[in-house]
Amino acid sequence: MAKICAGCGKEMGMFNGKVQVKDKEYFCNSCWEKAGFNTWGDLMDKPQMYTSKDIIEMIKGSKTHDSIIKDFVVTADICPSAKFNDDTKQMILADHAFVYVTSDPQNKRAENYTLFSYDQIVSFELLENGESVASGGIGRAALGGILFGGVGAVVGASTRSYKSVCEELKIKVTVKDYKDPAFYIPLIIIGTNKSSSEYKEKMKMAQNILSKLQLITSVSAPEKTETMDKFEEIKKYKNLLDEGIISQEDFENKKKELLNL
Ligand SMILES: [Zn+2]
Repeated sequence: MAKICAGCGKEMGMFNGKVQVKDKEYFCNSCWEKAGFNTWGDLMDKPQMYTSKDIIEMIKGSKTHDSIIKDFVVTADICPSAKFNDDTKQMILADHAFVYVTSDPQNKRAENYTLFSYDQIVSFELLENGESVASGGIGRAALGGILFGGVGAVVGASTRSYKSVCEELKIKVTVKDYKDPAFYIPLIIIGTNKSSSEYKEKMKMAQNILSKLQLITSVSAPEKTETMDKFEEIKKYKNLLDEGIISQEDFENKKKELLNL
């Protein structure tokens, strides 16, 4: 089926280079390039980060990747390292450690953030001194007591490492990106005493981020399966129609029923 480019309105054939963005709209390669991307390396899952509205603004030149991050609307303010928009189902994650808890929370330096779409998240893990202390993700139960316990649960989970100093605390987020599947959110980058309030504050931040990621991955997974099941079901009826077992009318009725039309 021919797809229409949401940028220039051009019809694109099956084999034309095209890119599908977050809201399932398509862009032709030439519009994708005009938005400032290259047609090879940035293909695959990267376009999922952006909505068609973002791309159209980027083609017009009124938006850039940096301005999208600077103007990112936060609906769930977790901490400076992870900001979420539950309406557009996008998040920006910092690859820069905010060394002091009191550091400017309004820090919006775009270069420290990367934009992700909720459906790009596969799994996540909290690493302390290189050791995994909590994890979760699509189709996985949260480990390390990150969901239902308080701060104490996370702190308790990490007491199995004997060191009284945390040298490094970071969250690893695995995303659907073939080029760059691992994203690290550094929380502690210098030796911090585990009895300090700084450490407790960072652990609380970690728990908030992990809980949010767990919520996102547990909400998005069943939805996908349900839709997939419906398409599988429709395909079965299509086969029955092709084999002449059911009529076109039967098929249309079943399709409408399954898609809630
Ligand atoms: Zn186009």
